[in-house]
Parts: sequence; structure tokens; C-alpha cells
Amino acid sequence: MGKPTGFVEWPRVPAPKRDKAERLEDWRELVLPLGPEEAKRQAGRCMDCGIPFCHQGCPLGNLIPDFNDAVYRGQWKEAYQVLSRTNTFPEFTGRLCPAPCEAACVLAIDRDAVTIEQMEKEISERAFAEGWVKPRPPARRTGKRVAVVGSGPAGLAAAAQLNAAGHTVTVYEKDARAGGLLRYGIPDFKLEKAVLDRRIALMEAEGIVFRVGEDVGATKGFRALREQYDGLMLAMGARRARELDVPGRELSGVVQAMDYLEHQNRVVTAGATPDARLEATGKRVIILGGGDTGSDCLGTALRQDAASVTQVELMPAPPSVRAQGNPWPRWPLVFRTSSSQEEGGERAFALLTKRLEGEDGQLKRLHAVHVEVQREPGGAPKLVEVPGSEQVFDVDLLVLAMGFTGPETGKLEEELGVALSPRGTVKVDAKFATSVPGVYCAGDASRGASLIVWALADGREAARAMDLWLSGTSSVLPTRGQDCAF
Ligand SMILES: Cc1cc2nc3c(=O)[nH]c(=O)nc-3n(C[C@H](O)[C@H](O)[C@H](O)COP(=O)(O)OP(=O)(O)OC[C@H]3O[C@@H](n4cnc5c(N)ncnc54)[C@H](O)[C@@H]3O)c2cc1C
Ligand code: SF4
Repeated sequence: MGKPTGFVEWPRVPAPKRDKAERLEDWRELVLPLGPEEAKRQAGRCMDCGIPFCHQGCPLGNLIPDFNDAVYRGQWKEAYQVLSRTNTFPEFTGRLCPAPCEAACVLAIDRDAVTIEQMEKEISERAFAEGWVKPRPPARRTGKRVAVVGSGPAGLAAAAQLNAAGHTVTVYEKDARAGGLLRYGIPDFKLEKAVLDRRIALMEAEGIVFRVGEDVGATKGFRALREQYDGLMLAMGARRARELDVPGRELSGVVQAMDYLEHQNRVVTAGATPDARLEATGKRVIILGGGDTGSDCLGTALRQDAASVTQVELMPAPPSVRAQGNPWPRWPLVFRTSSSQEEGGERAFALLTKRLEGEDGQLKRLHAVHVEVQREPGGAPKLVEVPGSEQVFDVDLLVLAMGFTGPETGKLEEELGVALSPRGTVKVDAKFATSVPGVYCAGDASRGASLIVWALADGREAARAMDLWLSGTSSVLPTRGQDCAF
């Protein structure tokens, strides 16, 4: 283990961030490295618990005490080997994961958790810098051909695993470049796209073919793809955005979060021409939705020099500490401040938008009412409007960041007859198989809008299940938390 008394001697030190004023002037990543000496101390805080609850918290089953111990001993290469056994892309989770492992860390019962997420970033960046991350094409090919639809984290993880098992993998992506929400949703200040390009180049060198700009369904068709390949992996995400159904929605100045973020990502990395309708510069901005997507919109609006930004959440603010019914090691439902919220803007809670008002077709005002949670004995909690609590906000740009309702499935159902769940996601069994033989599904498309770490975990497990189906005997791919066989 690290240092037996490490967690007593050393407090948790989060990774430093760039100065707020400086980082608002550009789009570069804002989190800085801990550095090897501090990383060693932070890894040394890990107690190597007899029952490491962090494993349970991590959807990938990462071998957390093992890589912490290796970092504490200065064995960085070993740490990378341990980490990459269970995590296909630690450079993504090390930057972007909300770290359910840290919420479940035993230290978090009464003190600060081990800095597990940052450790993943320190280890993976060290590995890239030292040249330890190399293309590893499979030693032999099976002769089986697999198509993956979608190149977000789920599609990338599934493709990497299926390729490692020796299958010949082609990834179909409708966008101009691969990466899914990693490229077009998440802003550069959280993930610089060079990090994504570096990984995709490795995957290409391993033999995976990316066919970008191909919207399966609109072009080739799902049925043709299924007939052409031995297996079909669906990883199309869940991009259908929740709508705001109020009078005035049609006004100019009301945009969906993904249109807003995608535009900025194209401007930053692809040199696209800025579109004034999707720019916050000089505008009074309101973001509806208090979650991560809303927070990314806030950081984007601040960098675009908005006159003001308010992030509005429908639900009341959560408590500052865990409520009684929300004990460790469950995910803590507490008030959080994201790096974007730290940078500026206002936050408002318990506000329900009633209508939008405009002049000459342009959005000018948002009318909202305060709500509160009422609990009747035995009944489910419900939101109730507070009489006389109307509030009017001046607004030029309203960004809708109220979540996603599921994947686009029209063509999929029409051409393949794939069954859907009652929530409108692609229905899969415990082995990620859809209702159509040889067609598997992973990530947000089957799970509903979720997290990168779940997309990776599903992608890996779905690849294992497909490999088993293709080979007919046993899979060479590992399951959750298990060592690789290759
Ligand atoms: C703004 C934003 C910020 C987020 N930030 C975080 C974060 O910080 N941390 C975190 O853990 N999670 C975050 N998430 C959630 C996370 O990004 C998703 O859970 C994850 O990307 C899902 O991966 P996926 O591969 O299933 O889908 P996606 O990433 O959505 O990828 C699906 C891909 O499939 C392609 N596709 C769809 N249909 C077709 C078709 N017919 N033909 C070809 N290609 C197709 C799409 O173009 C897309 O590239 C965020 C989400 C958003 C929207
Ligand atoms: S639960 Fe926390 S302290 Fe225990 S092994 Fe996991 S990371 Fe280390």
C-alpha cells in the first residue's frame, strides 16, 4: 500500500487551476498538473482498504489502490500498466469524470477522499510523455468484420476492444470528425481536442478505420450495414434534446445547448466562422438547466464576453452536506460549484419558466415563477408553484440545457426492427445484445444520457459480449475490473 499513515499526514490537495482572469481569455484546459512530488503524496494517502469501496464506485472497476501504490513507489510505468488494464482511455476520465470512485472512497466517510481522478490524468499524461503509450495492433486477425456506428466514448471503447480481439473494425460517424460529445459537446477548457486526436491516431495505427461524414440511415442504411458485416455495434448517443414547451419558444435568441456548444467547438478547433446567433458577446444570457451541460454553456458564455449570465435550475438548491437518506458510499446529492460556476455568472434555483416575451421576433424577457417541493404522506414529492412569486428577467440569448430524452431511432426501427425500451432508448439484455441477432448497443443510446465512464464501461462490456458471440466459444476480452488476456 501507499504510506500507512499517509492519509493522516497529508491533506487532500486538489489539482491547481489556472488563474480565473487568465483562463477566461482563452479556451485552453484550466486544470494544471499536480506534479510528481505532490502526486506521490496524494497517492500515498490511499489506505489500500481490505474492501476498497472505490472499486465498487468505479463503473470500470479500476484497480485504484494498485495504481496509487505504484505512484507512491515512483513506479509510473507500472501505474500506467495497471490503469490501462481496465480503462481504455484514462486520459478522458482523468479530465472529465465526476469520480463516483471518490464519492465511494472509504476516506470520504469522515475526511477528504483520495484524488483518484487526477491521479488517472497524472499517470496517463506521464505515459504519453514517456512514450509508453504505443499502438498495439492485434497479433492475429480473426477474419470477422465489425461495424461500429458512432465514435463517442462508447463507440471508441468498443472499437478499441474489438480490434484488440483481432476483429477488423470500421467506425461510421456522421460528424465531420470522430469523438462524439468529447469533440462537439465538451468545451476545450475541459478537454483540449489534441488529447482526443492523439488517441484516435493511435487507434488508426492499430488498424481501426474511421469513416467520418457518414450518417448511417441517411446513406448506407442500418440493414445494409448489418448484412455487410459480421457484427454491428450501435453507439449513437442520445442527442434528442428536451424541449421547452412554453409560449415564445419560437423567438429568435432561443437555442439548444448542443447547437450553442457545438458551434463554439467548431470555431475553436475547426476555424469555423462565428455565427452571431450562437454567440453570447455583449448579450444578457440565461441558461436553463443547472447540470453539467448548463455549466459548460456558462463557461462558454463567459469566454465569449457575455454582458451577464444566469444559470437557472428548476429544482431547489441541494443541501451543503449529505442528507440523512443519502449516506456514503452513495453519490452525494449536495450543492456543488463547477469550475465554470467558479469563474462568474449568477445561479438561480427553484424557478419554472412560464413564458418568453419578445419584440419584433427577438427574445427580450423570460417570465418565471418560484416553485417549492411538497411532500404528502405516502405520496411522491411534487413541485408546486408559489403564488405571487412571478419574476421577470431581461434576456437576449436563452440556452436550453435541460437534458436529453434519448437517441434518434427512426431509421433503426424502420430498417432493422430493433426493439426500444419504454424510455425510447435501444433495448438491450444483460449482455448488451439488442433484439436483432448480431446487433449490440452501448453507451447513451441504450443507457440514456449518462457519463463518459459509463460509456467506456458499456463499450468494453458490449465488445466482450460481441466477441463471445462472434467466436462462439470464449471471449479474449476482459470483463469489469479484470486483467486483459492480450
Ligand atoms: C455538454 C456536455 C458535457 C458533458 N460533460 C461530461 C463530463 O464532463 N463528464 C462526463 O462523464 N460526461 C459528460 N457528458 C456526458 C457524456 O459526454 C456522454 O455520456 C457520452 O459522450 C456518451 O457517449 P456515447 O458514445 O454513448 O455517445 P456520444 O458521445 O453522443 O457519441 C455518439 C456518436 O454517434 C454519432 N451518430 C449518431 N447517429 C449516427 C448515425 N446514424 N450514423 C453515424 N454516426 C452517428 C454521433 O454523431 C456521435 O458522434 C457531457 C454531455 C454533454 C452534452
Ligand atoms: S477506498 Fe479510498 S483509501 Fe480505500 S483503497 Fe480505494 S482509494 Fe484507497
